[in-house]
Amino acid sequence: MRARFPDFRLGNVLATSFTGTLTERRGNAVERIPTPQRLVDWLAVNGLAVESCTTAQLELAWELRESIHAAATAAAIQDALPASAVQVINDCSIQGRAAAILTPEGNRRWRLSSASCVEDALGVIAADAISIIAGERDGKLALCASPTCQAAFFDTSQSRTRRWCDMNTCGNRQKKARFNANKRTNR
Ligand SMILES: [Zn+2]
Repeated sequence: MRARFPDFRLGNVLATSFTGTLTERRGNAVERIPTPQRLVDWLAVNGLAVESCTTAQLELAWELRESIHAAATAAAIQDALPASAVQVINDCSIQGRAAAILTPEGNRRWRLSSASCVEDALGVIAADAISIIAGERDGKLALCASPTCQAAFFDTSQSRTRRWCDMNTCGNRQKKARFNANKRTNR
């Protein structure tokens, strides 16, 4: 029987979907890519399919993820970017050799240099992180209002007033907490 792992949270922004593979960083953290195979699964869902992944490659992925999280958090609160995080992001970006491919249907697809090249996939994620942290894309980095989460997310709402990294989880929980608090005071 296959072990059950926490589901992935899917977003529209590759870099913050990736940092969202570890949630509740300020509470009881949930690791959503605990094994190399789960990273393979996550990459496939995000258009970066690889055939295999080693433990060392998973560890590199975690390192990149936490570096993106640290840099994106600093950018969201307009703090100086941590130098070590910037270094890891840049190293991953430089190492990646993925090519953007335009399909006949007009879509972009990534072609990795080999089927087992997790580093190429991480390079694409690092480049995506660079584009949002550098402020090149239409949107704004912000931190989730949930005290146990505080994930950095990319707000593309028109008013730029989104409060939660994910409406279905953090947003919903907050709504329920408020509802229960109201019930208590009305009693
Ligand atoms: Zn959140």
